Amino acid sequence: MYSDLPTVINAAGTLTRLSAGPLAPGVLEAMAAADRVSLDMCGVQAVASRAIAAATGAEAGMVTSGAAAGLLLSAAAVMAGLNVGRMNSLPQTDGPDEFIMSRGHRNGYDHALRAAGAKLVEVGLPEPLAGSGIRDAEPWEYEVAIGPQTAAIVYVASPQSLPHLQEVVAIARPRGIPVIVDAAAELPPAENLRRFAAAGADLVVFSGGKLLGGPAGTGLLFGRADLIMSAALQSLDMDMHFADWAPPADFIDRTRVRGLPRQGIGRCCKVGKHDVLGLLVALDHFLAEGDAARHARWLSVCERIGAAIDAPEGGAVSVTGAQDTGRVPMVEIRFPDPESARRFNQRLLTRAVPVHLARKGLTPERLYVNPTCLRESEIATLIEALQG
Ligand SMILES: *Cc1c(COP(=O)(O)O)cnc(C)c1O
Repeated sequence: MYSDLPTVINAAGTLTRLSAGPLAPGVLEAMAAADRVSLDMCGVQAVASRAIAAATGAEAGMVTSGAAAGLLLSAAAVMAGLNVGRMNSLPQTDGPDEFIMSRGHRNGYDHALRAAGAKLVEVGLPEPLAGSGIRDAEPWEYEVAIGPQTAAIVYVASPQSLPHLQEVVAIARPRGIPVIVDAAAELPPAENLRRFAAAGADLVVFSGGKLLGGPAGTGLLFGRADLIMSAALQSLDMDMHFADWAPPADFIDRTRVRGLPRQGIGRCCKVGKHDVLGLLVALDHFLAEGDAARHARWLSVCERIGAAIDAPEGGAVSVTGAQDTGRVPMVEIRFPDPESARRFNQRLLTRAVPVHLARKGLTPERLYVNPTCLRESEIATLIEALQG
């Protein structure tokens, strides 16, 4: 190993910036096993599709190079369908290319949709956030935004997301408009892997490098079989003759395309076999461990840390989410004001080995110890830093 690696203690959660979280048990071994053989990548994604379908209840799925890549491929799939000419033209579009989103769902990751050629059409106003009103986007606002150029509705899932996904699906479905759900960070609870497709989403993306415990550069994309077929055609290596092409028929129906696209818009987010197989093992492990055992593992780390540190003067230390196995428990450190929290955080970040705590946008006077990326060997140092 390099001796000058910029090591940090990550008590902030599975942040990409901090190299995401620990791999689930068995992932590295699966990646090593993948390395001992050569594989047909279309066949590898077909295996992934069957495993992801079984885990999510969706018709089909694939491994992407992250949830953002899943968004790019979703937009590309919706706009091109199985029209190979359109695949080759993206991000130039000659058909429906408008993606309707609530203003309150807009976020930095939707850049990936625009990269595929999507034009975002915003609806609603997140007035509760602005403190100026009581309503967020309403279902009828999606309805009146639908027009001849509408390609899809994009819904960013979180426990607070409004309107409810079912209400959006109820508008989109009868009008033949697909719904794409960004659920990148919506684990746990594990049941969320099934929830959005069951609610009628046509495509769903999750991050593989967050709490699934897969490689940092992976994600899941799943949903309608024809859309997954399109996404696969736009991201797999397609440099071959159509006549020689024999994809697994349950994954790609070659009779439905006129020919093979050139390297598609998804080539810039390709995945290798190591990542695909690593993520599949992580998915298996995530489901096998279950919410209760995972929560108990994290909670015991929080309780040890919570018991070992003193509250800041005028503040408090507590463990949040202790009762709810569908959430990540955390140690919450409350300061008397945002400025003391900021100074405490700054001191941790400037240590020889920086310590990163989690912060939340709406509670600047609080810092959180997120247990999900902590290694056992780091806990004593973390406690010392928090006491220091
Ligand atoms: C993290 C996140 C993403 C990006 O996920 P990657 O797997 O890192 O590409 C997209 N959308 C939301 C809402 C996220 O939280």
